[in-house]
Amino acid sequence: MPELRWGPLRRRWVIVAPERGKRPSDFRAQASPPGQGTSECPFCPGNEHLTPPEIARTPGPGGWAVRVVPNKFPALSDYPDLGLEGQGVFRKANGLGAHEVVIDSPDHARDLDRLPLEQVRLVVDMYIARLQALYSDGRFRYVQLFKNHGREGGASLAHPHTQIIATSVLPSEVEWRLAAARDHHAATGRCLLCEMMEEELSAQVRVVEEDDQFLVLSPYDTRFPFELLIVPREHAHDFPALSGEERASFAGVLKRSLARLSSLLGDVPYNFVLHTSPCGGDWPGIEGWYHWHLEIIPRLTKLAGFEWGTGMFINPMSPEAAAEHLRTAV
Ligand SMILES: [Zn+2]
Ligand SMILES: [Zn+2]
Repeated sequence: MPELRWGPLRRRWVIVAPERGKRPSDFRAQASPPGQGTSECPFCPGNEHLTPPEIARTPGPGGWAVRVVPNKFPALSDYPDLGLEGQGVFRKANGLGAHEVVIDSPDHARDLDRLPLEQVRLVVDMYIARLQALYSDGRFRYVQLFKNHGREGGASLAHPHTQIIATSVLPSEVEWRLAAARDHHAATGRCLLCEMMEEELSAQVRVVEEDDQFLVLSPYDTRFPFELLIVPREHAHDFPALSGEERASFAGVLKRSLARLSSLLGDVPYNFVLHTSPCGGDWPGIEGWYHWHLEIIPRLTKLAGFEWGTGMFINPMSPEAAAEHLRTAV
């Protein structure tokens, strides 16, 4: 069973989950050509019995359009409580959380960039339904929605899917971002992302796409080549609170952003990560100063010694040049 550990030198929680070492990978020994479903793919239609019992489904022509199942090798799992205790200078706790997999569609070969817009909308609806369910659990501090695509992106199964992990502690990166937004607001009275968007819209050098509802940017302090940031134009701290119209618009902007990357770079491995409001009331006034956003990170460069040592990234491509390429690629 997974365990949470916190160390004072790095001030980070880590998850120790030995069971995950036993995960099979269909990238290692591909029985059929990549892009085709195999009789062993647990996410393909007809193989539903190969996944743990289903959590949710959106009905579709062949039975389902989107399915949600527990991760068979969860990073965190069900415990009655956190059981936090000190161990000398360290802290440890039960690996309390939830780890779910959203199977994006019955199609083994098409990721969100190539699925019909209506299907992407169903996926977004499912993201929100699961985030809302996990937020209302009461035992969790944060819910992370993310996608690993391709072997270099950390995916172990090729069939397109998204993952959701609910944590019972607040991860450090999330805490830093929340504190940065809160402190900026305390110092200036303004939301950091609202202000950033104003500057980007007036400069017009890193804007990849803008419509009435969303802005897609190549971030000023970009860490990776072709990294993208999707931000709602109207101030909003909470992704699951998107209205129906905004969900449709978000599905479109997400699909197009991924399509820009694949049109420019082919079937590039990537991660996307959602940054939305945490659970609970630990951050007073958060609705005024936090602004949700989604980052897409193509995995074209490797983190090496300098990055690990310093947390400082070396990006071989300027965000201005990346924006220029991405604007014309769709
Ligand atoms: Zn499949
Ligand atoms: Zn804002």
